[in-house]
Amino acid sequence: MNVPLLDLKAQYKTIKSDIDAALIRVAESQYFILGPEVEKMEQAMSVYIGCKHSFGVSSGTDALLLALMAIGIKSGDEVIVPTFSFFATAGVVARLNAVPVFVDSDKTTFNIDVTQIEKKITAKTKAIIPVHLFGQSADMNAIMTIAKKHNLTVIEDGAQAIGVQYRDGRQVGTIGDIGCFSFFPSKNLGCFGDGGLVTTNNDELAEKLKVMRVHGGKPKYYHKVIGGNFRIDAIQAAVLNVKLPHLDGWSAKRRDNAALYTKLFTESGLAQGEGKTQFNDANAILLPKAVYKNLGHKNFHIYNQYVIRVERRNALREFLTQKSIGNEVYYPVPFHRQECFAYLGTKDADYPVANCAANDSIALPIYPELTSEQISYVVQTIAEFQKTIASSKPKECSNCDCMK
Ligand SMILES: *Cc1c(COP(=O)(O)O)cnc(C)c1O
Repeated sequence: MNVPLLDLKAQYKTIKSDIDAALIRVAESQYFILGPEVEKMEQAMSVYIGCKHSFGVSSGTDALLLALMAIGIKSGDEVIVPTFSFFATAGVVARLNAVPVFVDSDKTTFNIDVTQIEKKITAKTKAIIPVHLFGQSADMNAIMTIAKKHNLTVIEDGAQAIGVQYRDGRQVGTIGDIGCFSFFPSKNLGCFGDGGLVTTNNDELAEKLKVMRVHGGKPKYYHKVIGGNFRIDAIQAAVLNVKLPHLDGWSAKRRDNAALYTKLFTESGLAQGEGKTQFNDANAILLPKAVYKNLGHKNFHIYNQYVIRVERRNALREFLTQKSIGNEVYYPVPFHRQECFAYLGTKDADYPVANCAANDSIALPIYPELTSEQISYVVQTIAEFQKTIASSKPKECSNCDCMK
């Protein structure tokens, strides 16, 4: 059986006629950049996310860059980011000649460890970028309390978390000062190319985001500020206008798939229970935990990724790939270990949890159109490896003491 990590064709099949009509509509309009499709998409996003202002932008990365530019981040400013995320979260900070300051991960969610933020704050700190990793919210109350106390701006990186609710039911992207989203095709809501969104409830920031999206010209060709070309295309907006009404259904299917994985892994006898952080045996499997699951709102987790942990991760990857099961490691190298950030002189030992996660986590197929047969096959294959092969392979995380 073939189980790809992601199957975008399966999703396209289910909405093909609506998408094709939308693409032709844009072709016939010959209105390609910003314009009515984009405005319609922005209004729909504001309603869906529950924010006052939404602006479509050229990518999730550009959403973050524009947000940092809008709050005036400049050379030498410090911005706190989790060390365990997609590169863009830290890359945008460094591109403005500001200093990304890395924080280790929470053991259960791999989101930023909120207990370690305050000790990283200095007189130069201007902002925090929490990431809602894999599709569940970072601990925003704790983050907002710290930000308020130290007068910091909070930019939420919701690239993997559109529609996700925090413990109190508020949606991510409405809690901090600015929210950033990505419509890269592999995200839960993907367009047909690059695309992103910035959100805010702050009118002043909204005006800055809007003007800086088009080089900072207002009126056109008159520049009080320097922005960039951060515009989104009408084709992307048209695709998003078709897809957005399906998003909650897709997220529900991802949760169903996650629940089935959890059930089947538990029945295999190898799982140690959701959210456990230490391996009891060589063949143990640690399952992800949705920390806001029982609080009564629906999108407590949208499973952009379903990430398990095993001690022989690289050997398992090889085995799964042989068996035609898609898999990926998000992320093999935390920021503090990236060559391009060596100049920051960060101490590796300060990041035990992220180092561990980088060595022993592996993402499994979780996309909505996955069948229960495919999920069973993935679990059976992993169980076979864990029971018969794992103990003969070297541990990736041999000196790992992060979870003690
Ligand atoms: C995907 C992603 C981004 C960047 O989005 P692009 O649209 O690919 O530029 C930023 N942050 C995180 C956490 C992401 O997963």
